[in-house]
Amino acid sequence: MIRYVAGVDIGNATTETALGMLENGNLIRCESGIAPTAGVKGTKDNILGIIQSLKDAASKMGIDYKALDLIRINEATPVIGDFAMETITETIITESTLIGHNPDTPGGMGLGTGKTILIGDLAQAGTDEKYIVVVPEDVDFLDAARLINENAEHGIQIEGAILKKDDGVLVNNRLKRKIPIVDEVEMIGRVPLGMPCAVEVAAPGGCIDLLANPYGIATVFALNTKETRQIVPIAKALIGNRSAVVIKTPSGEIRERRIPAGEILIHGEHKTYRAAVDRGAQEIMAVVGKTSEIRDVTGTTGTNVGGMLEKVRLEMAALTEQDSKDVFIRDLMAVDTIVPKEVQGNLANEFAMEKAVGIAAMVKTHKLHMERLARALSEELGLPIDIGGVEGSMAVRGALTTPGTDKPLLVLDIGAGSTDVCLMEEDGRTKPIHLAGAGNMVTMLISAELGLDNFRLAEDIKKYPLAKVESLYHIRHEDGSVQFFEEAIDSKLYGRTIIVKPEGWKAIKTKKSLEKIRQVRREAKEKVLIQNILRALKTVSLTGNLNEFEHVVLVGGSSLDFELGNMVTDALSYYGIISGKANIRKTEGPRNAVATGLLLSYLEENGYGI
Ligand code: ADP
Ligand code: MG
Repeated sequence: MIRYVAGVDIGNATTETALGMLENGNLIRCESGIAPTAGVKGTKDNILGIIQSLKDAASKMGIDYKALDLIRINEATPVIGDFAMETITETIITESTLIGHNPDTPGGMGLGTGKTILIGDLAQAGTDEKYIVVVPEDVDFLDAARLINENAEHGIQIEGAILKKDDGVLVNNRLKRKIPIVDEVEMIGRVPLGMPCAVEVAAPGGCIDLLANPYGIATVFALNTKETRQIVPIAKALIGNRSAVVIKTPSGEIRERRIPAGEILIHGEHKTYRAAVDRGAQEIMAVVGKTSEIRDVTGTTGTNVGGMLEKVRLEMAALTEQDSKDVFIRDLMAVDTIVPKEVQGNLANEFAMEKAVGIAAMVKTHKLHMERLARALSEELGLPIDIGGVEGSMAVRGALTTPGTDKPLLVLDIGAGSTDVCLMEEDGRTKPIHLAGAGNMVTMLISAELGLDNFRLAEDIKKYPLAKVESLYHIRHEDGSVQFFEEAIDSKLYGRTIIVKPEGWKAIKTKKSLEKIRQVRREAKEKVLIQNILRALKTVSLTGNLNEFEHVVLVGGSSLDFELGNMVTDALSYYGIISGKANIRKTEGPRNAVATGLLLSYLEENGYGI
């Protein structure tokens, strides 16, 4: 008689199935199914995704999913991860002094310094001073160029220009003597007049040099030490720009302010530890590291971080139908990051890179939920649902189907919300732990640091390599290799950075360079995934010495990452550890480990041959 049994792993992001065909007490065939998880893990909403995942596997097997005899789901308390971002510095300009935006097409090149003057007032200007002309909206580029040329002929020294409209190149083309021109300055009416000013424009593809350097600004405006300290945030806000304007006003002030960010309170078994959020991630993680068993995490009430952690708790409580008093944050991961934020009091939507801390929190919900879900699923499908498997060991059991692996084995399941770690000793004993922070946090960091505010685009940036369309017939991949095409590439993509997805290219709308995007992407993986892997090893290690591990196998969706394997090898080979992606059932790569483990554990417990 043929029986069909499925192991189903409901993750934060993905619901995976391992469907076995059993005949005469033996497993004779196995197929995988995959579907996005519907709703929050551990809730009845999951049923939709479970059915989809079952259907996927059943169709490969050539059967109806209703023909199944039994389903085994994880008994483990579901782990839910969430994340948030906390900005801890803020740049404020109390009087208009800075225009640091990046117009697409500034005019001219080089540095110009002088007093700001309205273009209409040039006739009254003296010849013994240098000027930067301010061109409002109602003066068109022909008039602007004519006025600059005429006045220059009369001996007025015009060293640069600031334009409201996007006319920088048009004006520059008509000038007899070229000057740097910054255009697209939104709030031109707020540019203070009669004040010392510097305009800098870099060559195409280059970055400004003097105005992005505090000492450069100090040189231009003859600043003293105290004043130089004050303009550091300006210089910082201008780094990486092709053009910039800085104006020195007598009472103008630019400050980098630290936002009172509050404290994180980590409640251990006996003691509560505190970490100030504005001291950065390292301090927070040091405290997390020294708390042997985290019972809960809270933040000081009335601060941003306090509100954020409570929000996580309330959301989890609502979604899992629990009282928020019963929801405990069992792990926390913090990473330092810098995010572009609009400068308060800016003239042209300038952004400053502000310091921020990204925080991932992990909540373990109640075991009762899996039982409730199992009952609902059983009613829906009219099938017996079995809850089984010791927490953590399912992933190991699945991972052990990878050729070349053996106990003792450390398995890292890097999913969307959490990194689940399980060490299986030679005698089969297991030691599972769950850490906050995984794929979702990487995506969040990429989105925030590049100022994308777009999770799906950030997911694509995370998953696939980049390339630059250098001509209509060739692209240069991020590794430097060049690929030619017989047919012309869509001209809209010319000069753009693209994501090379298997199903086609996707252009990234940003002024950031390919190198910058790549660097942000790799750093995000380093900060979250590599750090978490090292944290995992330190946590399960008996001796605190990472050399004790021999085999480390990666499973879970984030292990599919195209560059993570090499990054992990780099980080772990230092300790003499062999590491790599799993190849579940010799065919599935790092996918399906837990589902496969669930199926195999059922078969073993019930005396089937594998
Ligand atoms: P869970 O067990 O939490 O449901 P998964 O094991 O399905 O999660 O992993 C989901 C995570 O894997 C997501 O963060 C997703 O972005 C990431 N992921 C999926 N495919 C890739 C890929 N090709 N490269 C990098 N990350 C990936
Ligand atoms: Mg998973």
